[in-house]
Amino acid sequence: MGRLGVGVAVGCATAACIVAAAMVGKRVRRRRKWRKMLKVLEELEESCATPVGRLKQVVDAMAVEMHAGLASEGGSKLKMLLTYVDKLPNGSEKGTYYALDLGGTNFRVLRVHLGGQRSAILGQDIERQPIPQHLMTSTSKDLFDFIASSLKDFIEKEGNFSEQPSPGRRELGFTFSFPVKQSSVSSGILMKWTKGFAIEDTIGRDVSECLQLAMSRKGLDVRVAALINDTVGTLALGHYNDEDTVAAVIIGTGTNACYLERADAIIKCQGLLTTSGGMVVNMEWGNFWSSHLPRTSYDIALDVASPNPNDQGFEKMISGMYLGDIVRRVLLRMSEEESDDFGPSSSKLAIPFILRTPLMAAMHEDDSLDLSEVAKILGEVLELPDVPVKVRKLVVKVCDVITRRAARLAAAGIIGILKKIGRDGSGGIASGKFRSDRPTRMRRTVVAIEGGLYTSYTLFREYLDEAMMEILGEEVSSHVILRVMEDGSGTGAALVAAANSPSEADRVPLQ
Ligand code: ADP
Ligand code: MG
Repeated sequence: MGRLGVGVAVGCATAACIVAAAMVGKRVRRRRKWRKMLKVLEELEESCATPVGRLKQVVDAMAVEMHAGLASEGGSKLKMLLTYVDKLPNGSEKGTYYALDLGGTNFRVLRVHLGGQRSAILGQDIERQPIPQHLMTSTSKDLFDFIASSLKDFIEKEGNFSEQPSPGRRELGFTFSFPVKQSSVSSGILMKWTKGFAIEDTIGRDVSECLQLAMSRKGLDVRVAALINDTVGTLALGHYNDEDTVAAVIIGTGTNACYLERADAIIKCQGLLTTSGGMVVNMEWGNFWSSHLPRTSYDIALDVASPNPNDQGFEKMISGMYLGDIVRRVLLRMSEEESDDFGPSSSKLAIPFILRTPLMAAMHEDDSLDLSEVAKILGEVLELPDVPVKVRKLVVKVCDVITRRAARLAAAGIIGILKKIGRDGSGGIASGKFRSDRPTRMRRTVVAIEGGLYTSYTLFREYLDEAMMEILGEEVSSHVILRVMEDGSGTGAALVAAANSPSEADRVPLQ
C-alpha cells in the first residue's frame, strides 16, 4: 500500500470511529434523557402518593373543617352554606315542573312529570347544549337572556308531550352551581364565579331575580320556585328514589357536595327553625384545603396560572376541568428532559388546557397493544407524531397517577362527610371531639353521585370505589352505597320546586 493508500485507510478508520463515537454518544445521551424522564415520573408518583393512612388524615380534616364551617361564618375554607331546603321530595309530588341546570360545560332545560303516590317519575324531557364560550365572560343580561330564550324555545315545543302541565303559572327549579348565599329556598346572591365563568356584574346579585327578569323580558309566565345547587338537586333525586340518601356528591367539570345536617348542629345560625329539624348544607367542598393533601409543583403552577389562585384547591386536584391540564403540565416537563422522542418545537404541549380530561381518559383507558389511541391523541391534539411505544406507556402512567390521586381524594372527602354525621362506623365527631373509641351500629347509608368524571370515566370510578372500601373496611363499606343519579342536578331541581310549590299540600319533612 502506498502512502496515499495508508492515508486514506487511516482517514476512513478515523471517520468510522467518529461516527461510532457519535452514535454511542447519542445513545448515552438518549439513555440519560430517558432516565431523567423516568425520574420525573418517579417524583410525580412520590408526591401524589395516597396511602390509606394519608387518606384517613384527609377524612379527619374534612370532618373537622365541616365542623368549623358550621361553627362560625368564615370559620373554615368550607363555606357550609345554608340551602333553606328542609324538605326533600319523597315521591308524593304530583304535576309537571320545569328545571334549568347551569353549572359547567353543558346547560340543560328539563320538564319533569310526576304522578304522586310514590310512583316513579312518569316522564321527562331534557335538552342539553353547550354554553357558548363568550357568554361565560360576557354580561349578566346576555347570559340570563340566553337561558330564558332556551327555556322559551323548549316550552314552545310542548306539543309533543302527552301530558300537558296543569293550568296556571309554570313552576321552575333553577340549578345554579356556583357559590350562592341563599336567603330563602328560592333566592340567593352570587358570591363568586368558578369553573371558568367570570361575569363581574352578577356577583352580589340575586340570581333568581336575574332569571325572573330575563323570563319576563321574553314574556314567559314562569315562577322560580327553587334556587338550588347541583348537589342539592342530586340529593333531592336520590332522596326521591331512596330515603336512606343522606348526601350527594358531584364530580364533573367541578366538584362539590351537600348533605343533611341537624339544624342544631348549624351553630353559626343559632335558633334556626326548620319544620323537619334538619337542613341541607351546601359544603362548597371544592374549596376544601388541608396540609395532608398531596400537592405537587404542577398543582401549584396550575393554581398560580388560574383566574382564581389560592381558591378551590380541592377541586383543582379532583375535577374534570383540571385533570387533563395537570397531565399536560407533567408531559411538558418530561418533554423538556427528552425532546428527541417527545416534544419537538412544534408541540402544542405548552398551550394551557389543550389536553381535555376526556381525551386524557381515552389515553388512560387505551387497551390496544401498541397504545395506538395514545399515539393518535398525542399526534392529533398535541402535534407529537411518532412517539415511541415506551414513551406512550409513560404517558399512560402519568394519566394513571393523576386520576388515581383524584379519585382517592374524592373518596376520602365523601367519608369525611359520613364521619361528620356518624355514618362511617366510627361514631363521628361531636363538639369537635372524635369518638372513634365508641363504634355505633352502622345504618344503611346512600350517597347520591353525579358528574361526567364519575359516570363516564371507568378507571376513575373504580379507583374511587376501591378507596372507599380501603378506608372504611369491608364490613362498614357494605352499608355504604354510592348511587348514580343520572341528570340528578336538573331533575332534582324540578323535584325541589315540586316539594316547595304552593300546590304541593303534602309537604314532606326530611327523614
Ligand atoms: P357538568 O359538570 O358540566 O355539569 P358533567 O357532569 O356532564 O357536566 O361533567 C362533564 C365533565 O366530566 C367534563 O368537563 C369532563 O371533564 C368530564 N368527563 C366527561 N366525560 C368524560 C370521560 N369520558 N372521561 C373523563 N372525563 C369525562
Ligand atoms: Mg352538572
